[in-house]
Amino acid sequence: MSSLPMSPMMGQMMSQPLLISNILEFAARHYGSSEIVSRRVEGDMHRYTYRECHQRARRLANALHGLGVRMGDRVATLAWNGYRHLEAYYAVSGSGAVLHTINPRLHPEQVAYIMNHAEDQYLLFDLTFLPVAEAIAAHCKTTKGFILMCDRERMPAESKIPNLLCYEDLINSHSDDYAWPQFDENSAATLCYTSGTTGNPKGALYSHRSTVLHAYGSAMPNALNVSSRDTVMPVVPMFHVNAWGLPYSVPLSGAKLVFPGAALDGKSVYELFENEGVTFSAGVPTVWLGLINYATQNQLKFSTFRRTVIGGSACPPAMMNTLIDDFGVEVVHAWGMTEMSPLGTTCTLMAKHLELDREGQRKILQKQGHAVYGVDMKIVDDDGKELPWDGVGYGHLLVRGPWIIAKYYKDEGGDVLQDGWFPTGDVATIDPDGYMQITDRSKDVIKSGGEWIGTIDLENIAMAHPAVLQAACIGVAHPKWDERPLLVVVLRAGQQVSREELLRFFDGKIAKWWLPDDVVFTDALPVGGTGKIQKNKLRDQYKEHKLPTV
Ligand code: ADP
Repeated sequence: MSSLPMSPMMGQMMSQPLLISNILEFAARHYGSSEIVSRRVEGDMHRYTYRECHQRARRLANALHGLGVRMGDRVATLAWNGYRHLEAYYAVSGSGAVLHTINPRLHPEQVAYIMNHAEDQYLLFDLTFLPVAEAIAAHCKTTKGFILMCDRERMPAESKIPNLLCYEDLINSHSDDYAWPQFDENSAATLCYTSGTTGNPKGALYSHRSTVLHAYGSAMPNALNVSSRDTVMPVVPMFHVNAWGLPYSVPLSGAKLVFPGAALDGKSVYELFENEGVTFSAGVPTVWLGLINYATQNQLKFSTFRRTVIGGSACPPAMMNTLIDDFGVEVVHAWGMTEMSPLGTTCTLMAKHLELDREGQRKILQKQGHAVYGVDMKIVDDDGKELPWDGVGYGHLLVRGPWIIAKYYKDEGGDVLQDGWFPTGDVATIDPDGYMQITDRSKDVIKSGGEWIGTIDLENIAMAHPAVLQAACIGVAHPKWDERPLLVVVLRAGQQVSREELLRFFDGKIAKWWLPDDVVFTDALPVGGTGKIQKNKLRDQYKEHKLPTV
């Protein structure tokens, strides 16, 4: 792989490849009694240990081998966060095949498109997704079999899928006598497609090495800070960039794992947190809205939940304040993307910041944070010239590191790197202490009279208004300025605020020319498969919107 020069004096340590199977083997051997608890789609709870998970993963690896799955073959999943999905994570990658996690919220046509693109040999799926599997089965040209992740009793009496297999039958009919194969750590391990907001989704193909290094890096105290004293519930789905690596970083830390299955509403998440003593969780801002609303309305507090990572889109300061001040939950703002495995930065305070007052600390915590070791970043202008880290000037954010994409699967999109750096498509500032702050996605930024207006700032201000539940800011065409900001707002139940009042709320908080030209109120914002607001849809919806002339 490497064309680097070799020193005449090489190190003399064991050369053991960094393989995903080794993570589960380690967890089973050294933290064998730590629990994995899952809320099943069948409706009940399932509990077992890392030791048992390892046993079943080896049975599954034997079963897949029996079905003809070989190194490099792609095996897909359409599944919620649960123990069977975790077994598939390890059995597929561990045996040298490639795990392709599919977002079930995609349109079935898109699911079929990426399965054909990936050339998936098998699909493992949860009961919930039987209708999706039935809709796509005839269109999946390379798929030899569909494995329903349930026991014999729950298998449908008849199905449109010709080659439907039962997961538990496969597990029961194979032994756990399986030695994980050893191979080059640069071999492909998992495949994730980007959500494809523009054009068809593209595949990011992670290697064993990149996944294990990402798991090490993300478990560190400055990052997710996972330890064997934690009980971790990944709310972020295992089909969204491998649940941000938690299915790897939690087992290597020996922590207890709790899987929420399909029940992601505020009440279900709250009850699971309380019942299982969850201390740490991670998810996109939209899922925390549901939990916060449920806990607030029912005047509930958390007895064990102490820390959460929020990322995927900007964490609104109002949400951060509620979690910290009202619920005593530490918020770690994180940034990353599919192409980065996904973790790039996490925001935690440095020792010198502990002397700052609440406002001073919050200002820092609202940024997307420091690079996690393994990631390097820089900001550049339109000509690619590096910009200073002054916390003010913003530019295109570029990254590099051992868990960052070098090219897309099947070379889709051609050469994506710029002088060895990956352009993220985000616009950001970096301050002298190395804290990065995202101003916007370059495709969302509003270009007004040749200057840029960052939409995240405007949305954060709007969401700090007590009547506002959600806000999104988009650019709409303007005859004089090219584009001007339009604020689209969802109000909290039973709350009212007028357009004028809301615009007055921006007074003194931003430069005058950043002020949105108009506000529209709506019942809901379009949300995509990964829980993010779909600004492209909003732009379409409001492209004819007439801004008031002043
Ligand atoms: P997709 O690009 O397919 O929507 P990703 O989950 O890979 O899916 O999204 C990555 C993008 O999400 C980033 O490039 C960035 O624009 C946005 N993002 C992620 N985390 C944050 C964050 N903490 N603050 C602001 N934007 C974020």
